[in-house]
Amino acid sequence: MNKKISANYHTHTFLCKHAIGNVEDYVKKAISMQYHTIAITDHGPFPKFLQKRLKSRRMSIEQYNEIYLDALQKAKELHKNEICVLSGIEIEYMDELQDKYKEFLSQLDFLVLGQHYIKVDDIYKSIYDELSEDEIHVYAKTVTQAMKSGYFKIIAHPEIFAWNINVWNKLCEEVSNEIIDVAIENNVILEINVNGVRNSFYQRKEFYQNEGINFPYPRREFWEIAKAKNAKVMINDDAHSPNRMNDEYTKYIYDIALKMNLNIVDRIEGIND
Ligand SMILES: [Zn+2]
Ligand SMILES: [Zn+2]
Repeated sequence: MNKKISANYHTHTFLCKHAIGNVEDYVKKAISMQYHTIAITDHGPFPKFLQKRLKSRRMSIEQYNEIYLDALQKAKELHKNEICVLSGIEIEYMDELQDKYKEFLSQLDFLVLGQHYIKVDDIYKSIYDELSEDEIHVYAKTVTQAMKSGYFKIIAHPEIFAWNINVWNKLCEEVSNEIIDVAIENNVILEINVNGVRNSFYQRKEFYQNEGINFPYPRREFWEIAKAKNAKVMINDDAHSPNRMNDEYTKYIYDIALKMNLNIVDRIEGIND
């Protein structure tokens, strides 16, 4: 691993309705920074009934089919001599999507697992809500099943289950071990998500300097376990704007990850290695 950031595998476009920039904007920005790879991984579309139920801000199936896939194809072709453009989506693992993953994979290079909901008593609950101990186990079960399915190459912000937990505890330790072990067994890359830092930097100024103070994610304790197990780790911007790639927050986290001596990768086996 070199000491320069030269790829990013988590980016969002205007189609998700809470980001700016189109595919071309991200690709141009990545070329200007001399990246070897840029992956576009906007929030994947939900079937209409699910979208209605969850009201999650993301592209529609029509936009996916008519705009997203086309823009990705064009960018790949247009820039093939300058940079590797990969196509993907960030998407949840859900019962309702079981017949969709293969279809997505026939159209895209890879999928990022971004589990923002868990199903409790047949109702979806946001991962940002206060979770009970049982619900945290549901999160772990959902993402481990997802990783075992073989559909996903990267798990985004794997420690998001601890979003509302201020003091890391035994349960966090247990669940983290489980997630990291399954990621290793199934060759899924664990993502250190820089956007967690951007979103909270002004509330919680320190990350590593002060014991006990942490971002909702990344969480130091989680990544220490990943380090101990030598799990594959990727630093991704989760950029919701092209100018959020490789910014001061990315560099801040990258420095910490290097100091921790994490097993940082910037290529995906079987995709662009
Ligand atoms: Zn988003
Ligand atoms: Zn994302």
